[in-house]
Amino acid sequence: MAENWRQHYLRALPAVDAAVNIYKRGNPASHYPHPLMVRAVQEIVDGLRQQILAADQEDELAGVAMTPEEVALRVDAWLKRLDKPSLRRVINATGTVLHTNMGRAPLAAAAKRAVDENTGFCGLEVDLAEGRRGSRHDHVEKLLMSLTGAEAACVVNNCAAAVMLCLNTLAAGKKVIVSRGELVEIGGSFRIPDVMSASGARLVEVGTTNKTHRADYKNAIDEETALLLKVHTSNYKVVGFTSAVSVEELAALGVEYGVPVMEDLGSGLLIDMTAFGLEKEPLVSERIAAGVDILTLSGDKLLGGPQAGLIIGRRRLVEQVKKNQLMRALRPDKMVLAALEATLRTYLTGDPLREIPVLAMLSASPEVLKRRANRLAEALRQRSGGLLSISVLDDVSFVGGGAMPLTTLPTSVVAVRHRGGSFSEWVRGLRLAEPALVGRVQENQLLLDVRTVAEEEEEEVIRCLT
Ligand SMILES: *Cc1c(COP(=O)(O)O)cnc(C)c1O
Repeated sequence: MAENWRQHYLRALPAVDAAVNIYKRGNPASHYPHPLMVRAVQEIVDGLRQQILAADQEDELAGVAMTPEEVALRVDAWLKRLDKPSLRRVINATGTVLHTNMGRAPLAAAAKRAVDENTGFCGLEVDLAEGRRGSRHDHVEKLLMSLTGAEAACVVNNCAAAVMLCLNTLAAGKKVIVSRGELVEIGGSFRIPDVMSASGARLVEVGTTNKTHRADYKNAIDEETALLLKVHTSNYKVVGFTSAVSVEELAALGVEYGVPVMEDLGSGLLIDMTAFGLEKEPLVSERIAAGVDILTLSGDKLLGGPQAGLIIGRRRLVEQVKKNQLMRALRPDKMVLAALEATLRTYLTGDPLREIPVLAMLSASPEVLKRRANRLAEALRQRSGGLLSISVLDDVSFVGGGAMPLTTLPTSVVAVRHRGGSFSEWVRGLRLAEPALVGRVQENQLLLDVRTVAEEEEEEVIRCLT
């Protein structure tokens, strides 16, 4: 009978009906449907039951609020939480430009307008000039061809899907040769060997982690080889005693043996950014010119558009990819295509460094960032009523999104200390604000990097903090 106390507590849990009725009497104007109130009470009571079952000793349960009246008091908060959007806007003051957990690339104004224009009916798969069936890929194919010099292009949900679809189309049941130095993992579930087996292709590893030579690829080619695959090691670098086969060499080998060369570029940069202190990344057009037959890249990394996977290269191969049954499962919707089309057009006819937020953030000069940080710090000093201690520090920002892991960009951050109260509670409060404010936490101070904060958001940052 040692567990008597536990039985006692379990029996004392309120009946659902009783708590619902008390809630209804206390909140006669509540507009929530009855079944939702029942669900709220059930979940609250269930939480209490788990708490009782998990307790090691009776005194852990002393003071736990579990009368029907006390449960009814929690119902309103439960219902209001359900009514609030879970996906909320965040002001990203972390300085990490492509923050995968915070939605990667913020969209350009033109892309937002294009999405807004096309949420209703649109010519997604209609050729409006001819009045017949069209293809959703048409909206971006010509733009991608003009931007990269490729013969053809199509779009899927993300780059992982693009890799999967290309491998399945071009190499299911056959061999794909990859260097051991390029068997990458990108964030949890995307690992080249796993994607390869899921696609039905057979991975043939060649070379070593640090060195792979032309002969390694050449010796592995046989009549079952469908592809030579190069994977951009976007989120790590092998340094020291290393060598890899260039795409030009690999393309030449592919031509010699009649095996297409595919490259998973991951990020995929359309314009050179080295002038702004970014490391040299392969440009998509350079890879096409080098003879790569099919390329995959993300829409929402350095390209600065919506989440999408772009497949570009030789017409013969891209047409095969478009006809794969899996395309239906992986195809993008009208809003993604609208945003992507507008983003790509900005590269061709607009001012991408100014209009595409990712590129604008990456190319912001240290002087401009310092000026903005000083201005923000001054406004905070004036309006925080002495509650915050503010300074401006030199620091660095990161590209993020698994791209350019070694690149650090000099920036200025506003360092904020909160006088009084718990630091972690204060930071949590900022995360729960509307919009949420997320910065970098370092030794009981919050660092706000203006690089990733839009100028229009500065006033919101001030309101949030004061
Ligand atoms: C990021 C990345 C991917 C995955 O791209 P998603 O668009 O996130 O699916 C695949 N390959 C490489 C090399 C990458 O860097």
